[in-house]
Amino acid sequence: MKAIRNVASYLFGAGALGRLEEVLRTDPRMPAGPVVYLVDHFFAVHTAPLDKLPRRPMDRLVFIDTTHEPSTGQVDQVAAGLRSDLGGLPAVIVGMGGGATLDMAKAVSNLLTNGGQASDYQGWDLVKVPGVYKIGVPTLSGTGSETSRTCVLTNYETGVKLGMNSDHSVFDQLILDPELTATVPREQYFHTGLDTYFHCMETLNGRTRNGIVDAYSEKAIELCRQVFLQGDMQDRASREKLMIASLMGGAAAGNTGLVHPLSAGLSVVLGVHHGLANCLAMGPLAEYYPAEHAEFTAMARAQGVVLPTGLGAKLSEEQIAKLYASCIVHEKPLSNHLGDDFKAILTPAKMAALFRAM
Ligand code: NAD
Ligand code: ZN
Repeated sequence: MKAIRNVASYLFGAGALGRLEEVLRTDPRMPAGPVVYLVDHFFAVHTAPLDKLPRRPMDRLVFIDTTHEPSTGQVDQVAAGLRSDLGGLPAVIVGMGGGATLDMAKAVSNLLTNGGQASDYQGWDLVKVPGVYKIGVPTLSGTGSETSRTCVLTNYETGVKLGMNSDHSVFDQLILDPELTATVPREQYFHTGLDTYFHCMETLNGRTRNGIVDAYSEKAIELCRQVFLQGDMQDRASREKLMIASLMGGAAAGNTGLVHPLSAGLSVVLGVHHGLANCLAMGPLAEYYPAEHAEFTAMARAQGVVLPTGLGAKLSEEQIAKLYASCIVHEKPLSNHLGDDFKAILTPAKMAALFRAM
């Protein structure tokens, strides 16, 4: 049994970003000194929310390119840039964006105080000392990065996609403003939103269980049903509900099942982004998750989201072999769903058939 660390405090509600200045200036826990804003590059063009960031001459704003999911090299580069620009450490990091930007903010915060390279901390409990004080501002709901204890990074030199799993990766504070997710394109909103549905339903269908994780997961799924099966997923009330579901999914952070390992294969081998990769992975998994598969299909139909098809037919034998290799390494979630002899069930031939059916 291990003690669970949660985010210490959060502000939630439409317009919450407008309270950031008050948080930074009056919260007694706030360290004094420069604030670094790491912001998704979408806001370099759609700048309205930037007006709410209380920037002073000593502070810095860095846009994070999220064309590709975060890499260890990108974290090293951003941290080195800040060190030389500031001539020291910032007092606070504010990460504002989707899962990719929130993960960058956590990783840069850890790296700045721990030194070395980002790849040194990929794994479990390798981060030695607390990172720079960090505040998360999600602008896209679903990954749960705002409350989870990891930040997922790809090391392109070794091909390893692994997080800095550590209590030090948990945000100190959150500003949860559902107004910020109004500009997300519909398909992206669906793909990322479903991430929390998959995290939670995989957990609830798994063998390792925990009563608190189950309770969070059940509530998050109920909220996803309200968002995706009733009315417009992106109206004001739904944006608020999905932000809560994402928060709960991240706080639950249970062990996953079959969707996430297959999804990881698609991301590592083909570069498909996490949210879409999950949806593609769920496609051929009806035999393992019949009720959830039907529900997921109904959610896409209700929101008019059409998922791409025909990927499997284009895969070469070499790609299939790589997909098998990068999926089967995820022993913890695969055995969580299938038991210890998961390799006898998910044979290379079976896995090839699943990928071919996407
Ligand atoms: P993302 O952060 O990659 O963003 C996807 C796209 O949405 C980007 O083009 C971005 O510019 C755009 N975007 C973000 N906010 C927007 C807004 N308000 N309006 C318009 N466009 C906006 O997507 P994501 O699905 O949130 O995050 C995926 C990443 O999260 C992956 O790298 C994945 O590995 C990671 N992840 C982390 C955890 C965790 O616990 N740390 C869990 C799951 C996934
Ligand atoms: Zn996920």
